Amino acid sequence: RILVAGELNVDLVFRDCQAFPAPGREVLAEDAMVVPGSSSMICAMGLARLGNPVAFAGKVGVDGWGGFCVSALQGAGIDVAAVRRDPGLRTGITASFSTSSDRALVTFAGAIGALRASDIDDALLATADHLHVSSYYLQSALRPELKSLFARASALGLSTSLDPGFDPEQRWGNEWPCLLSEVDLFLPNDVELAGISGCESPLDGLRALDNGRTRTVVKRSRHGCATLDGAGGLLESPAFAVDAVDSTGAGDSFDAGFLHAWLRGLPLAEAMRWGNACGALSTRGVGGTARQADAAEAHALLGS
Ligand code: ADP
Repeated sequence: RILVAGELNVDLVFRDCQAFPAPGREVLAEDAMVVPGSSSMICAMGLARLGNPVAFAGKVGVDGWGGFCVSALQGAGIDVAAVRRDPGLRTGITASFSTSSDRALVTFAGAIGALRASDIDDALLATADHLHVSSYYLQSALRPELKSLFARASALGLSTSLDPGFDPEQRWGNEWPCLLSEVDLFLPNDVELAGISGCESPLDGLRALDNGRTRTVVKRSRHGCATLDGAGGLLESPAFAVDAVDSTGAGDSFDAGFLHAWLRGLPLAEAMRWGNACGALSTRGVGGTARQADAAEAHALLGS
């Protein structure tokens, strides 16, 4: 089974706003909804939808939003025994405002930042075959503890993967090589890869992070994904053509598809296609989890 550890939050989505509100003003939105939002929750739900047994480790407050997150996970058949509800914390919320041409986000991290490596003890790790960690988490109290968390997981025989959160202030600096030395699979998007490696091109970025252990696959939106081939060149996998409605969380659904195939031992190029297929199919609905692929839909797109 797959243990996904990371943030749990809700997204408040305001669609087709007349404009972004100027200070002191109010604008109307055409549509609004509340959806499960976080990177790790979208990945976990994508994995469950593909038929994988999944457990989640995370933290929420004792408030309605926390209950919403836990119910969403349970509704997807995910084991929530390791989701802690902390009365001293409030559940994280992201408000997303879109106009016809642009999008703006406001995030309150809340309980997201409070998960510690000690919440993910060896007994919990021992119930899983794979540990996946993602996003905001990396800028929280857990950050200095992540390397030892991955080392503990490896020592217990789990494979490991990491999807980095966007780090606009580059607070991670040169911590990356050290952390990645403990990770089997690294899944940044192209903006994150450029920020982490300091390299403009994906090929240079992938080469810069190559440590002989970690398989890095970079997600490139409409260009699909890429990784290093055996000769130090670029192995690319093109995106599937879809009528995208909303690409929120496409990277997390990509992670689900890639992990689903990779953990079954499929060849790397096939796992990349699975990632692209699940990323593309997730763009059919508004919010990251509305229209994630099940295995039959992914097979149909993959022609397999
Ligand atoms: P992130 O959500 O992390 O920014 P991307 O935008 O790169 O990640 O999307 C992840 C993956 O989802 C891409 O590698 C691609 O396979 C797929 N994808 C995203 N947007 C589209 C799109 N408009 N059409 C087809 N596939 C897409």
